[in-house]
Amino acid sequence: MKCSFCNKKSIYFRRNEGHHYCDIHLSRSIERRVRKTIRENDLIDKKDNIVIALSGGKDSSTTLILLTKIFKNNPKIQIDALTIDIGFPHIEEDIEVGKELTKKLKVKHHIFSLKEEFGIGIEDIFKRNPEKSPCAICGVLRRYLINKKTRELGYKKVATGHNLDDESQSILMNFLKGDMMRLARSGAMPMITKNSKFVSRIKPLIKIPEEEVEIFVKINGIKYSPQECPYRKYNTFRGETIKYLNNMERNSPGIKYSLLESALRLKSQIEKQFEKSEIKLCKKCKEPTSKKICKTCEVLGGVLS
Ligand SMILES: [Zn+2]
Ligand SMILES: [Zn+2]
Repeated sequence: MKCSFCNKKSIYFRRNEGHHYCDIHLSRSIERRVRKTIRENDLIDKKDNIVIALSGGKDSSTTLILLTKIFKNNPKIQIDALTIDIGFPHIEEDIEVGKELTKKLKVKHHIFSLKEEFGIGIEDIFKRNPEKSPCAICGVLRRYLINKKTRELGYKKVATGHNLDDESQSILMNFLKGDMMRLARSGAMPMITKNSKFVSRIKPLIKIPEEEVEIFVKINGIKYSPQECPYRKYNTFRGETIKYLNNMERNSPGIKYSLLESALRLKSQIEKQFEKSEIKLCKKCKEPTSKKICKTCEVLGGVLS
């Protein structure tokens, strides 16, 4: 099969569009789609300073590469990287991959260790909370540190590598759990409760399917870490959702996009409900939360006080 746009061999068929792509045209199309997401959602202002939450995996590496490329001729926009060393085995390799990439792109790379910040390692935190899922704990702590460090370093926004698959899985899971607050956080620039201690989060890859990110890193020779989370197998709910959505996508191409679109249409309605919800500062650590004690302090069991 030939590329639908030139004479080169096709390496990818975008089923929901019916077009074949060669390596060059697929790369261009992905970049164009990211530019469009940024433009349509006003993700980046003229004088923004942004930090990419870089894990060393394919998604955040692609986000960093594309954003530095898109804004390379714009000296007023600063783009750097931030990595949280969670403390899982083999994380040094992921961090090393991130270091190499930031060196190559000549961007600043801030690295913080969870253990140093909280004075307790992740495995010990899991042990203190046997009733909670490791993925939920890890997510809470990671988001907390990313928000706090981004703000303290003086960046206005943090960009994450969430792709279309990640986003559509979260949307479906939040629907199934009836978690409307989380559903309102869908989209390229999720609603943030008005509090100066919260930095804006942006997701430039939200319209790129995981499969395309995988091909993008391969054809562009981007080194990344495969990153199998050691606790992934315990997250059966997400695992089932991934299987279900991939199966649906095979039979009805484009279903992940339409799930995202549905959530975005509902979002504005849901947001109104949550606008009134008050944000307080955590009694222990003084970070923003909707409760008296934030979730991070809750799972840390009084370590930060
Ligand atoms: Zn082509
Ligand atoms: Zn707290």
